[in-house]
Amino acid sequence: MLIVKKFGGTSVADKERIYNVAKRCIEDYNKGDDVVVVLSAMGKYTDELIDMATDINEKPPKREMDMLLSIGEQMSVALMGMAMDKLHVPAVSLNAFQVSMHTTSVHGNARLKRIDTERIHRELENRRIVIVTGFQGVNKYDDYTTLGRGGSDTTAVALAAALHADLCEIFTDVDGIYTADPRIVPGARKLKEITYDEMLDLATLGAGVLHNRSVEMAKKYGVPLVVRSSLNNSEGTVVKEEVSVERMLISGVALDTEAVRIAVIGLKDVPGMAFRLFDILARKNINVDMILQSIGRSGTKDISFTVNRGDLDEAVAALEGARARLGYKELHSEKNIAKLSIVGAGMMSNPGVAARMFESLYNENVNINMIATSEIRITVIINEKDGVRAMNAVHDAFDLAD
Ligand code: ADP
Ligand code: ASP
Ligand code: MG
Repeated sequence: MLIVKKFGGTSVADKERIYNVAKRCIEDYNKGDDVVVVLSAMGKYTDELIDMATDINEKPPKREMDMLLSIGEQMSVALMGMAMDKLHVPAVSLNAFQVSMHTTSVHGNARLKRIDTERIHRELENRRIVIVTGFQGVNKYDDYTTLGRGGSDTTAVALAAALHADLCEIFTDVDGIYTADPRIVPGARKLKEITYDEMLDLATLGAGVLHNRSVEMAKKYGVPLVVRSSLNNSEGTVVKEEVSVERMLISGVALDTEAVRIAVIGLKDVPGMAFRLFDILARKNINVDMILQSIGRSGTKDISFTVNRGDLDEAVAALEGARARLGYKELHSEKNIAKLSIVGAGMMSNPGVAARMFESLYNENVNINMIATSEIRITVIINEKDGVRAMNAVHDAFDLAD
Protein backbone atom coordinates (compact mmCIF):
# COMPACT_ATOMS: atom_id res chain seq x y z
CA MET A 1 0.00 0.00 0.00
CA LEU A 2 1.20 3.56 -0.70
CA ILE A 3 0.14 6.07 1.95
CA VAL A 4 0.55 9.84 2.01
CA LYS A 5 0.50 11.16 5.58
CA LYS A 6 0.36 14.89 6.24
CA PHE A 7 1.10 16.45 9.63
CA GLY A 8 0.23 20.07 10.40
CA GLY A 9 2.18 22.62 12.42
CA THR A 10 0.95 21.65 15.90
CA SER A 11 1.74 18.01 15.19
CA VAL A 12 5.45 18.78 14.66
CA ALA A 13 5.71 21.71 17.09
CA ASP A 14 8.54 20.32 19.23
CA LYS A 15 11.06 17.48 19.57
CA GLU A 16 8.64 15.15 21.34
CA ARG A 17 5.98 15.59 18.66
CA ILE A 18 8.48 15.17 15.86
CA TYR A 19 9.44 11.79 17.36
CA ASN A 20 5.77 10.94 17.78
CA VAL A 21 5.18 11.59 14.07
CA ALA A 22 8.31 9.69 13.09
CA LYS A 23 7.11 6.65 15.07
CA ARG A 24 3.65 6.73 13.52
CA CYS A 25 5.16 6.74 10.05
CA ILE A 26 7.61 3.98 10.91
CA GLU A 27 4.74 1.74 12.08
CA ASP A 28 3.31 1.80 8.54
CA TYR A 29 6.75 1.43 7.01
CA ASN A 30 7.39 -1.65 9.12
CA LYS A 31 4.15 -3.20 7.87
CA GLY A 32 5.66 -3.00 4.40
CA ASP A 33 3.79 0.07 3.18
CA ASP A 34 5.37 2.80 1.08
CA VAL A 35 5.18 5.99 3.13
CA VAL A 36 5.31 9.58 1.89
CA VAL A 37 5.13 12.18 4.65
CA VAL A 38 4.16 15.80 4.01
CA LEU A 39 4.98 18.32 6.73
CA SER A 40 4.03 21.91 7.60
CA ALA A 41 6.27 24.38 9.36
CA MET A 42 6.66 23.76 13.11
CA GLY A 43 4.02 25.32 15.38
CA LYS A 44 3.45 28.97 14.51
CA TYR A 45 6.73 29.32 12.64
CA THR A 46 5.08 30.60 9.45
CA ASP A 47 3.45 33.41 11.46
CA GLU A 48 6.82 34.23 13.02
CA LEU A 49 8.45 34.43 9.58
CA ILE A 50 5.67 36.76 8.42
CA ASP A 51 6.25 38.98 11.45
CA MET A 52 9.97 39.07 10.74
CA ALA A 53 9.29 40.08 7.15
CA THR A 54 6.86 42.88 7.96
CA ASP A 55 9.23 44.17 10.62
CA ILE A 56 11.83 44.75 7.90
CA ASN A 57 9.36 45.99 5.27
CA GLU A 58 5.62 46.41 5.89
CA LYS A 59 4.93 45.54 2.24
CA PRO A 60 7.53 42.86 1.46
CA PRO A 61 7.92 41.85 -2.20
CA LYS A 62 5.89 38.67 -2.72
CA ARG A 63 8.78 36.81 -4.29
CA GLU A 64 11.00 37.44 -1.30
CA MET A 65 8.14 36.49 0.99
CA ASP A 66 7.88 33.04 -0.61
CA MET A 67 11.65 32.69 -0.45
CA LEU A 68 11.37 33.27 3.30
CA LEU A 69 8.27 31.18 4.00
CA SER A 70 9.71 28.14 2.26
CA ILE A 71 12.24 27.92 5.10
CA GLY A 72 9.59 26.77 7.57
CA GLU A 73 8.65 23.57 5.78
CA GLN A 74 12.25 22.82 4.85
CA MET A 75 13.22 22.97 8.50
CA SER A 76 10.49 20.48 9.47
CA VAL A 77 11.38 17.89 6.84
CA ALA A 78 15.10 18.02 7.61
CA LEU A 79 14.49 17.57 11.34
CA MET A 80 12.09 14.71 10.61
CA GLY A 81 14.77 13.05 8.47
CA MET A 82 17.15 13.34 11.41
CA ALA A 83 14.60 11.86 13.84
CA MET A 84 14.03 8.88 11.55
CA ASP A 85 17.76 8.37 11.19
CA LYS A 86 18.04 8.32 14.95
CA LEU A 87 15.35 5.62 14.97
CA HIS A 88 17.41 3.65 12.40
CA VAL A 89 14.90 3.93 9.58
CA PRO A 90 16.06 4.99 6.12
CA ALA A 91 14.42 8.27 5.16
CA VAL A 92 15.07 11.19 2.86
CA SER A 93 13.73 14.75 3.00
CA LEU A 94 12.90 16.57 -0.23
CA ASN A 95 11.84 20.15 -0.95
CA ALA A 96 9.70 21.44 -3.82
CA PHE A 97 12.74 21.82 -6.08
CA GLN A 98 14.00 18.32 -5.46
CA VAL A 99 10.58 16.82 -6.17
CA SER A 100 9.80 19.28 -8.98
CA MET A 101 6.46 20.60 -7.81
CA HIS A 102 5.43 22.90 -10.60
CA THR A 103 2.99 25.69 -9.80
CA THR A 104 1.56 28.78 -11.44
CA SER A 105 3.63 31.94 -11.06
CA VAL A 106 1.52 33.86 -8.53
CA HIS A 107 3.44 34.29 -5.33
CA GLY A 108 1.59 33.65 -2.07
CA ASN A 109 -1.32 31.89 -3.72
CA ALA A 110 0.09 29.60 -6.40
CA ARG A 111 -1.76 26.59 -7.78
CA LEU A 112 -0.10 23.24 -8.28
CA LYS A 113 0.10 22.30 -11.96
CA ARG A 114 2.23 19.19 -12.14
CA ILE A 115 4.32 17.05 -9.83
CA ASP A 116 7.16 14.90 -11.06
CA THR A 117 6.99 11.59 -9.25
CA GLU A 118 10.17 9.99 -10.53
CA ARG A 119 12.44 10.94 -7.64
CA ILE A 120 9.85 9.94 -5.05
CA HIS A 121 9.25 6.58 -6.74
CA ARG A 122 12.98 5.95 -6.87
CA GLU A 123 13.37 6.66 -3.17
CA LEU A 124 10.37 4.46 -2.30
CA GLU A 125 11.80 1.62 -4.38
CA ASN A 126 14.93 1.89 -2.27
CA ARG A 127 12.66 1.39 0.77
CA ARG A 128 13.07 4.88 2.16
CA ILE A 129 10.41 6.95 3.84
CA VAL A 130 10.07 10.10 1.74
CA ILE A 131 9.51 13.34 3.65
CA VAL A 132 8.25 16.21 1.49
CA THR A 133 7.81 19.92 2.23
CA GLY A 134 4.17 21.01 2.18
CA PHE A 135 2.96 24.45 1.10
CA GLN A 136 5.79 25.27 -1.32
CA GLY A 137 6.22 24.94 -5.06
CA VAL A 138 8.39 26.14 -7.91
CA ASN A 139 7.25 28.34 -10.79
CA LYS A 140 8.46 28.55 -14.39
CA TYR A 141 11.08 31.11 -13.42
CA ASP A 142 12.58 28.59 -10.98
CA ASP A 143 11.43 30.68 -8.03
CA TYR A 144 9.80 29.41 -4.88
CA THR A 145 6.04 29.90 -4.62
CA THR A 146 3.63 29.09 -1.79
CA LEU A 147 0.11 27.72 -2.05
CA GLY A 148 -1.69 30.03 0.40
CA ARG A 149 -2.09 29.65 4.17
CA GLY A 150 -2.91 26.08 5.12
CA GLY A 151 -1.69 24.88 1.72
CA SER A 152 0.20 21.81 2.95
CA ASP A 153 -3.08 19.87 2.84
CA THR A 154 -3.17 20.54 -0.88
CA THR A 155 0.43 19.37 -1.34
CA ALA A 156 -0.51 16.10 0.37
CA VAL A 157 -3.64 15.47 -1.70
CA ALA A 158 -1.86 16.43 -4.92
CA LEU A 159 0.95 14.03 -4.13
CA ALA A 160 -1.55 11.30 -3.30
CA ALA A 161 -3.23 11.88 -6.67
CA ALA A 162 0.03 11.97 -8.61
CA LEU A 163 1.37 8.84 -6.92
CA HIS A 164 -2.01 7.03 -7.13
CA ALA A 165 -1.78 6.53 -3.38
CA ASP A 166 -4.18 4.14 -1.68
CA LEU A 167 -4.86 6.63 1.09
CA CYS A 168 -4.20 10.24 2.05
CA GLU A 169 -4.30 10.87 5.80
CA ILE A 170 -4.38 14.44 7.14
CA PHE A 171 -3.23 14.42 10.77
CA THR A 172 -4.07 17.46 12.82
CA ASP A 173 -4.78 18.68 16.36
CA VAL A 174 -8.46 17.63 16.38
CA ASP A 175 -9.91 14.12 16.05
CA GLY A 176 -11.53 14.76 12.69
CA ILE A 177 -14.04 17.02 11.00
CA TYR A 178 -16.70 18.30 13.37
CA THR A 179 -20.13 19.81 12.82
CA ALA A 180 -18.47 23.15 13.71
CA ASP A 181 -15.05 24.32 14.87
CA PRO A 182 -14.88 22.65 18.32
CA ARG A 183 -12.92 25.64 19.62
CA ILE A 184 -15.90 27.92 18.93
CA VAL A 185 -18.78 25.49 19.48
CA PRO A 186 -17.82 23.27 22.43
CA GLY A 187 -20.71 20.86 21.78
CA ALA A 188 -19.73 20.17 18.18
CA ARG A 189 -19.84 16.52 17.17
CA LYS A 190 -17.33 14.54 15.15
CA LEU A 191 -18.59 13.36 11.77
CA LYS A 192 -17.87 9.82 10.65
CA GLU A 193 -18.11 10.76 6.99
CA ILE A 194 -18.73 13.83 4.85
CA THR A 195 -19.00 14.30 1.08
CA TYR A 196 -16.35 16.12 -0.94
CA ASP A 197 -18.96 18.72 -1.93
CA GLU A 198 -20.06 19.47 1.62
CA MET A 199 -16.46 19.64 2.86
CA LEU A 200 -15.48 21.88 -0.04
CA ASP A 201 -18.21 24.36 0.93
CA LEU A 202 -17.33 24.19 4.62
CA ALA A 203 -13.63 24.70 3.92
CA THR A 204 -14.32 27.60 1.57
CA LEU A 205 -16.69 29.18 4.08
CA GLY A 206 -14.27 29.22 6.99
CA ALA A 207 -13.78 25.68 8.37
CA GLY A 208 -9.97 25.87 8.42
CA VAL A 209 -9.52 22.18 9.18
CA LEU A 210 -8.76 21.55 5.48
CA HIS A 211 -7.39 23.85 2.77
CA ASN A 212 -10.28 24.16 0.33
CA ARG A 213 -8.15 23.39 -2.72
CA SER A 214 -7.14 20.09 -1.17
CA VAL A 215 -10.80 19.07 -1.11
CA GLU A 216 -11.31 20.28 -4.67
CA MET A 217 -8.38 18.17 -5.78
CA ALA A 218 -9.43 15.12 -3.76
CA LYS A 219 -12.82 15.24 -5.47
CA LYS A 220 -11.36 15.74 -8.92
CA TYR A 221 -9.01 12.76 -8.64
CA GLY A 222 -11.10 10.64 -6.27
CA VAL A 223 -8.40 10.61 -3.59
CA PRO A 224 -9.46 8.62 -0.50
CA LEU A 225 -9.08 11.22 2.25
CA VAL A 226 -9.18 10.88 6.03
CA VAL A 227 -8.79 13.62 8.65
CA ARG A 228 -7.61 12.39 12.06
CA SER A 229 -5.64 13.28 15.16
CA SER A 230 -1.86 13.03 15.31
CA LEU A 231 -2.09 12.55 19.08
CA ASN A 232 -4.43 9.57 19.37
CA ASN A 233 -5.63 6.62 17.35
CA SER A 234 -9.30 7.51 17.07
CA GLU A 235 -10.90 6.87 13.71
CA GLY A 236 -11.20 10.33 12.22
CA THR A 237 -13.49 11.48 9.42
CA VAL A 238 -13.60 10.07 5.91
CA VAL A 239 -14.17 12.55 3.07
CA LYS A 240 -15.66 10.84 0.01
CA GLU A 241 -18.04 11.13 -2.93
CA GLU A 242 -21.12 9.58 -1.29
CA VAL A 243 -21.77 8.95 2.37
CA SER A 244 -23.50 5.83 3.56
CA VAL A 245 -24.68 6.92 7.00
CA GLU A 246 -28.16 8.30 7.37
CA ARG A 247 -28.09 11.85 6.13
CA MET A 248 -28.64 14.64 8.60
CA LEU A 249 -30.42 17.79 7.57
CA ILE A 250 -27.18 19.73 7.69
CA SER A 251 -23.61 18.52 8.16
CA GLY A 252 -21.90 21.57 9.54
CA VAL A 253 -21.76 25.23 10.43
CA ALA A 254 -18.85 27.49 9.44
CA LEU A 255 -17.85 30.99 10.43
CA ASP A 256 -15.55 33.23 8.42
CA THR A 257 -14.34 36.59 9.70
CA GLU A 258 -12.00 37.25 6.81
CA ALA A 259 -14.60 38.82 4.53
CA VAL A 260 -15.32 42.57 4.31
CA ARG A 261 -18.24 44.30 2.61
CA ILE A 262 -18.13 47.09 0.05
CA ALA A 263 -21.28 49.03 -0.86
CA VAL A 264 -21.51 51.15 -3.99
CA ILE A 265 -24.45 53.50 -3.55
CA GLY A 266 -26.37 55.44 -6.17
CA LEU A 267 -25.29 53.77 -9.39
CA LYS A 268 -27.34 54.61 -12.49
CA ASP A 269 -30.04 52.01 -13.04
CA VAL A 270 -29.02 51.16 -16.61
CA PRO A 271 -27.76 47.97 -18.28
CA GLY A 272 -24.05 47.20 -18.01
CA MET A 273 -23.41 48.71 -14.56
CA ALA A 274 -22.73 45.42 -12.81
CA PHE A 275 -20.46 44.40 -15.66
CA ARG A 276 -18.43 47.61 -15.50
CA LEU A 277 -18.08 47.46 -11.77
CA PHE A 278 -17.01 43.83 -11.47
CA ASP A 279 -14.83 44.04 -14.56
CA ILE A 280 -12.73 46.68 -12.79
CA LEU A 281 -12.21 44.28 -9.88
CA ALA A 282 -11.62 41.27 -12.11
CA ARG A 283 -8.83 43.11 -13.91
CA LYS A 284 -7.13 43.54 -10.55
CA ASN A 285 -7.53 39.82 -9.86
CA ILE A 286 -9.82 40.54 -6.91
CA ASN A 287 -12.21 37.75 -6.04
CA VAL A 288 -15.76 38.87 -5.30
CA ASP A 289 -18.01 36.70 -3.22
CA MET A 290 -21.57 37.54 -2.18
CA ILE A 291 -23.30 40.13 -4.34
CA LEU A 292 -26.50 41.99 -3.52
CA GLN A 293 -28.19 44.49 -5.83
CA SER A 294 -31.05 46.63 -4.65
CA ILE A 295 -34.18 47.23 -6.70
CA GLY A 296 -33.78 50.39 -8.77
CA ARG A 297 -35.53 53.50 -7.36
CA SER A 298 -35.68 56.93 -9.00
CA GLY A 299 -33.21 55.83 -11.64
CA THR A 300 -30.50 54.62 -9.26
CA LYS A 301 -29.53 51.35 -7.59
CA ASP A 302 -26.99 50.09 -5.01
CA ILE A 303 -24.67 47.13 -5.30
CA SER A 304 -22.90 45.61 -2.32
CA PHE A 305 -20.56 42.65 -2.26
CA THR A 306 -17.90 40.99 -0.14
CA VAL A 307 -14.19 40.58 -0.83
CA ASN A 308 -11.31 39.17 1.20
CA ARG A 309 -9.94 41.47 3.87
CA GLY A 310 -6.53 41.47 2.18
CA ASP A 311 -8.05 42.83 -1.05
CA LEU A 312 -10.06 45.65 0.54
CA ASP A 313 -7.62 48.53 0.02
CA GLU A 314 -6.93 47.63 -3.58
CA ALA A 315 -10.64 47.19 -4.35
CA VAL A 316 -11.56 50.55 -2.82
CA ALA A 317 -8.70 52.29 -4.64
CA ALA A 318 -9.75 50.75 -7.96
CA LEU A 319 -13.38 51.79 -7.51
CA GLU A 320 -12.45 55.30 -6.39
CA GLY A 321 -10.22 55.58 -9.43
CA ALA A 322 -13.17 54.66 -11.65
CA ARG A 323 -15.66 56.95 -9.93
CA ALA A 324 -16.17 59.21 -12.95
CA ARG A 325 -16.76 56.22 -15.23
CA LEU A 326 -19.13 54.43 -12.85
CA GLY A 327 -20.89 57.59 -11.70
CA TYR A 328 -21.90 56.35 -8.23
CA LYS A 329 -22.76 58.65 -5.31
CA GLU A 330 -21.05 56.97 -2.36
CA LEU A 331 -18.66 54.15 -1.59
CA HIS A 332 -18.73 52.48 1.84
CA SER A 333 -16.73 49.64 3.29
CA GLU A 334 -17.45 47.63 6.42
CA LYS A 335 -14.79 45.51 8.08
CA ASN A 336 -16.67 44.23 11.10
CA ILE A 337 -18.71 41.55 9.43
CA ALA A 338 -18.80 37.78 9.69
CA LYS A 339 -20.03 35.19 7.26
CA LEU A 340 -22.03 32.40 8.88
CA SER A 341 -22.97 29.36 6.82
CA ILE A 342 -24.76 26.07 7.16
CA VAL A 343 -23.88 23.30 4.74
CA GLY A 344 -25.59 20.00 4.06
CA ALA A 345 -26.75 17.94 1.12
CA GLY A 346 -29.79 17.06 3.25
CA MET A 347 -31.29 20.52 2.78
CA MET A 348 -31.90 19.87 -0.91
CA SER A 349 -34.90 17.70 -0.18
CA ASN A 350 -36.12 19.41 2.98
CA PRO A 351 -38.05 22.67 3.02
CA GLY A 352 -37.84 24.97 6.02
CA VAL A 353 -34.09 24.82 6.58
CA ALA A 354 -33.61 28.52 5.85
CA ALA A 355 -36.53 29.46 8.09
CA ARG A 356 -35.08 27.42 10.92
CA MET A 357 -31.71 29.13 10.57
CA PHE A 358 -33.25 32.61 10.41
CA GLU A 359 -35.49 31.89 13.39
CA SER A 360 -32.51 30.92 15.53
CA LEU A 361 -30.78 34.18 14.58
CA TYR A 362 -33.94 36.16 15.33
CA ASN A 363 -34.17 34.51 18.76
CA GLU A 364 -30.66 35.76 19.46
CA ASN A 365 -31.53 39.21 18.13
CA VAL A 366 -28.89 38.89 15.40
CA ASN A 367 -29.47 41.09 12.38
CA ILE A 368 -28.88 39.67 8.89
CA ASN A 369 -27.21 41.96 6.33
CA MET A 370 -27.02 39.73 3.29
CA ILE A 371 -28.15 36.23 2.36
CA ALA A 372 -26.84 33.84 -0.29
CA THR A 373 -27.86 30.28 -0.98
CA SER A 374 -26.92 27.31 -3.12
CA GLU A 375 -28.41 23.82 -3.27
CA ILE A 376 -26.41 22.69 -0.27
CA ARG A 377 -25.69 25.84 1.70
CA ILE A 378 -27.10 29.01 3.19
CA THR A 379 -24.81 31.90 4.06
CA VAL A 380 -25.65 35.07 5.94
CA ILE A 381 -23.59 38.16 6.63
CA ILE A 382 -23.93 39.39 10.18
CA ASN A 383 -22.05 41.67 12.57
CA GLU A 384 -18.68 40.28 13.56
CA LYS A 385 -19.43 40.75 17.26
CA ASP A 386 -22.43 38.40 16.93
CA GLY A 387 -20.43 35.68 15.15
CA VAL A 388 -19.69 33.19 17.93
CA ARG A 389 -23.09 33.55 19.59
CA ALA A 390 -24.87 33.17 16.26
CA MET A 391 -22.82 30.13 15.30
CA ASN A 392 -23.69 28.39 18.57
CA ALA A 393 -27.37 29.29 18.22
CA VAL A 394 -27.60 27.91 14.69
CA HIS A 395 -25.69 24.77 15.68
CA ASP A 396 -28.19 24.20 18.52
CA ALA A 397 -31.17 24.86 16.29
CA PHE A 398 -30.24 21.91 14.07
CA ASP A 399 -29.57 19.58 17.01
CA LEU A 400 -26.05 18.96 15.85
CA ALA A 401 -24.57 18.50 19.32
CA ASP A 402 -24.04 15.09 20.89
P1 ADP B 1 -2.92 21.97 10.96
O1 ADP B 1 -1.83 22.83 11.48
O2 ADP B 1 -2.84 20.55 11.44
O3 ADP B 1 -3.11 22.07 9.49
P2 ADP B 1 -5.21 23.69 11.34
O4 ADP B 1 -5.14 24.66 12.47
O5 ADP B 1 -4.98 24.18 9.97
O6 ADP B 1 -4.23 22.49 11.69
O7 ADP B 1 -6.63 22.93 11.36
C1 ADP B 1 -7.11 22.35 12.53
C2 ADP B 1 -8.04 23.32 13.23
O8 ADP B 1 -9.19 23.56 12.42
C3 ADP B 1 -8.64 22.79 14.51
O9 ADP B 1 -7.78 23.02 15.59
C4 ADP B 1 -9.96 23.53 14.63
O10 ADP B 1 -9.91 24.60 15.55
C5 ADP B 1 -10.19 24.11 13.24
N1 ADP B 1 -11.53 23.81 12.68
C6 ADP B 1 -12.33 24.70 12.05
N2 ADP B 1 -13.47 24.14 11.67
C7 ADP B 1 -13.41 22.83 12.03
C8 ADP B 1 -14.29 21.71 11.89
N3 ADP B 1 -15.48 21.83 11.28
N4 ADP B 1 -13.88 20.53 12.38
C9 ADP B 1 -12.69 20.39 12.99
N5 ADP B 1 -11.81 21.41 13.14
C10 ADP B 1 -12.16 22.62 12.69
N1 ASP C 1 2.94 26.51 7.11
C1 ASP C 1 1.90 27.01 6.24
C2 ASP C 1 0.91 27.87 7.02
O1 ASP C 1 1.10 28.07 8.22
C3 ASP C 1 1.19 25.92 5.49
C4 ASP C 1 0.38 24.95 6.32
O2 ASP C 1 0.51 24.94 7.55
O3 ASP C 1 -0.37 24.18 5.73
O4 ASP C 1 -0.02 28.37 6.47
MG1 MG D 1 -4.13 23.40 8.22
